[in-house]
Parts: sequence; structure tokens; C-alpha cells
Amino acid sequence: MGRKYIDCRDYPSEMHCTVALSADTEDELLEAAVQHAVQVHQHQDTPELRSQLKTLFKEGAPPA
Ligand SMILES: [Zn+2]
Repeated sequence: MGRKYIDCRDYPSEMHCTVALSADTEDELLEAAVQHAVQVHQHQDTPELRSQLKTLFKEGAPPA
């Protein structure tokens, strides 16, 4: 299992958020991404949000 990450810079946002999150498992990354989306981007924690976030996960580490 490789590392996975999600990079907010890839995600269209009016906030121009530059946070990148990474974890060893998709479940861990999803929990971190959901918390970030709810707290920072004021999203609702819904199954739709979770499935949308999963499509944004990438293999490896965030680019520097
Ligand atoms: Zn963000």
C-alpha cells in the first residue's frame, strides 16, 4: 500500500486553500479530508461529499 494524498490546490475553491493532506490508507485520508472540508470549507459531511473527496485522492506524496 502506497501513500495517498489529496491536495486542495487541485480542488476549485474560492478560498484558494493550499492545504495538502496525506495518509497511508484511504480511510484515514477520507476522515482527515472530511474534517478539513467541514471545518475549513463549510461543507456538510454527507455520503456525496465523501464519494466526491475519494475521486480526488492521488497516489504518492503531494508535490512540493
Ligand atoms: Zn482546503
